[in-house]
Amino acid sequence: MTFAALSRDQIQTLLDEQTAAYRAAQASGLTLDLTRGKPSPEQLDLSNGLLSLPGPDFKDAAGVDTRNYGGLTGLAELREIFAPIMQVPVGQVVAGDNASLAMMHDNLVFALFHGVADSEQPWGVEEAVKFICPVPGYDRHFALLEEYGIEMLSVDLLDDGPDVDAVRELVKDPAVKGMWLVPTYSNPTGSIVSEAVAAELAAMETAAPDFRIFWDNAYAVHHLTEQQTKTADILGLCAASGHPNRPVIFASTSKITFAGSGVCFLGSSADNVAWYLSHLGKRTIGPDKVNHLRHARHLGDVDGVHALMDRHRAVLAPKFRAVVDILQTRLGEHAVASWTEPKGGYFVSLDVIDGTASRVIQLAGEAGVAMTPAGAAFPYGNDPRDRNIRIAPSYPSPEELAAAIDVLATCVLIAAAEQALAQ
Ligand code: PLP
Repeated sequence: MTFAALSRDQIQTLLDEQTAAYRAAQASGLTLDLTRGKPSPEQLDLSNGLLSLPGPDFKDAAGVDTRNYGGLTGLAELREIFAPIMQVPVGQVVAGDNASLAMMHDNLVFALFHGVADSEQPWGVEEAVKFICPVPGYDRHFALLEEYGIEMLSVDLLDDGPDVDAVRELVKDPAVKGMWLVPTYSNPTGSIVSEAVAAELAAMETAAPDFRIFWDNAYAVHHLTEQQTKTADILGLCAASGHPNRPVIFASTSKITFAGSGVCFLGSSADNVAWYLSHLGKRTIGPDKVNHLRHARHLGDVDGVHALMDRHRAVLAPKFRAVVDILQTRLGEHAVASWTEPKGGYFVSLDVIDGTASRVIQLAGEAGVAMTPAGAAFPYGNDPRDRNIRIAPSYPSPEELAAAIDVLATCVLIAAAEQALAQ
């Protein structure tokens, strides 16, 4: 029966039952962690071939000694594998070190100090710099903006991308210099920017001539079903609408090979890439090309990437299925929550009754199940409805995951019952 249809006595009974289950879980001494979207050891094992690569032949196809300095754009043979995934000509793809987040950071810092290719002055000397943040979104994107005093403006992230009408309003302000987007299987809702929404974002007029879309395609090939969603071609759409420098595309192998020792990529217009390299060249003499070479050999070609992702899917899909099934079994009849059933990516986004997410996360923590802090998916850590909870199913074993989601469901029911009885 749905919660709304229960009498006070029935809610009290339910609270008593759930509290008993909660105490039993507490007594069992769980230590489970659903906080960060990390690949499991089983997934990392899929790329153990990297540990013995590149082997004694350390030269790339062009005969470059990868052990030495240089090669700022990264190894051509690895860029060739990722160019079609990013939908960027290979000459406009840069391969970097192990974190696309660091590339995003550098793009912001370079823009603040120098301005971007179409800027009249450095962003940092402007009175205010603002970014549009689709919510719920990736906490580390927001942390980067907060770090550098860039004001965050939330817009709703819908199933097919950000609320374009809201975005169109906000970009009338010349202080709005950019926006984040995770176009495919977004963190945490799994939403996918449709071709139509991408086209609107590419074509819209912005008051800032140097407006940028930070198109973070972290989950471009991270499908959880047979359906292989193709990301909208933002570079092509922007070029066709007369805004060739608008998008900056990021990707990485963090959730393809080794999360801590992968390779990241930037793709953009020729002008933007030249701009980025001119500043990057002061920061580094060149990336870790030995890592590039071993990745190129391990992955082989773009088909090799997809084949490896199929093996990740075999590990991940049952975990996501289990999360959704347990939530449905435990919470479905009560109508106290809704959750996403993503077709890819790394997260399930759970919305509980308004005003109860912090309490759920507190209860879960006190029962040994660590969750991402309430509000993390919103700018300044502030979920205005206190309802969103991000679940990261990838790392725990299937047994641990099932136990953790069961406890979480118990906490959702307790918090809902407490709130109902307090009214
Ligand atoms: N972008 C998104 C949307 C993510 O969810 C993550 C990691 O969770 C990252 C970027 C981090 O990428 P990288 O490991 O390449 O820094």
